[in-house]
Amino acid sequence: MRAFVCPVCHNFVPFERAECLSCGTALGLHLPSRSMVALADRAAVLDGVRWTRCTQSGPLACNWLASEATDVAARGRCLAHSLIRREPAPDDTIAREKMLPATLALRRLVYQLAELGLPVDPYWRRVGGLAFDLLSSFSTGERITIGHANGVITIDLVESLDAYRESLRVRLGEPYRTVLGHFRHEAGHYYQNILVETGDGARRHLARCRELFGDERASYADALARHYERGAPAGWQASFISEYATMHPWEDFAECFAHYLHITDTIDTSREAGMVLHADRVRFAAPRDVVPLESYTEAPIDQLLDDWKWISLFFNRVNTAMGKGPLYPFQISQPVADKLGFVHTVVRATA
Ligand SMILES: [Zn+2]
Ligand SMILES: [Zn+2]
Ligand SMILES: [Zn+2]
Repeated sequence: MRAFVCPVCHNFVPFERAECLSCGTALGLHLPSRSMVALADRAAVLDGVRWTRCTQSGPLACNWLASEATDVAARGRCLAHSLIRREPAPDDTIAREKMLPATLALRRLVYQLAELGLPVDPYWRRVGGLAFDLLSSFSTGERITIGHANGVITIDLVESLDAYRESLRVRLGEPYRTVLGHFRHEAGHYYQNILVETGDGARRHLARCRELFGDERASYADALARHYERGAPAGWQASFISEYATMHPWEDFAECFAHYLHITDTIDTSREAGMVLHADRVRFAAPRDVVPLESYTEAPIDQLLDDWKWISLFFNRVNTAMGKGPLYPFQISQPVADKLGFVHTVVRATA
């Protein structure tokens, strides 16, 4: 994630802030330039276009700007919030409260997708475009299944409830479960569909995808029943990033896509902070300095993953120094590295 800067006093501004912590200037995040801009009367004119605060700035504390040139179908919302197709009723205050952390995760996702150069094509612009249904099984008692179908990603807002999510994480034996992780995983299903299985991507990528992840035409219902009856096969760690990835080729791809976003965002955040790991300053044997790149577009996956090996080792130790679990509690085996390499190839071919 970018380290944003106040255009007035040049101090650091966190991603989610709507005003500078140091000088108090009203700020808005302008996605096309990936920068914070100073606002006068809740608006700024950039390249001849007037940008105003997203209409969700009040209810959802959104600090993004919406272009007045955008389709009325965007409802005066920023790109991220315009993707929300369904949301809890205005009087469902319990669910609406959970929209705050969920939409912050959504903005983080959309920002990263734009940064990677992946298409964010809203449902209101074309049929099958990207949409989010943010619904709550907690307040309505309705059964909400987290998932993706034809461009629509459904998120159960109850996952924003820490006690609920953590108890589920423990029960399922998962080392990591976050709302942002759900968004990244479901985005993986969407991008596999539009970039690998259909259109031009099918000719370029589908055969290799099946070699690495298996044939996605295998029955999903059978795979689901088998997974919840027997769990992951013994020794799954040798070829999968998580137990859930063993269920079906689609889940394997989505898990790897999510990890690609975890890894690239964390490396980018480190680089934006000026972090370099100097081999001659550590106590243990380190083969080289680790200098995170501004973009890994031109770099092979091996370089990205080798940088990550050292950066994640560092952050895992930092987390345990604070009494927490490792930041990245996963092992990347060679087959998983090959799958991440495939995601890297698809992203690079698209960007
Ligand atoms: Zn400032
Ligand atoms: Zn917004
Ligand atoms: Zn999935």
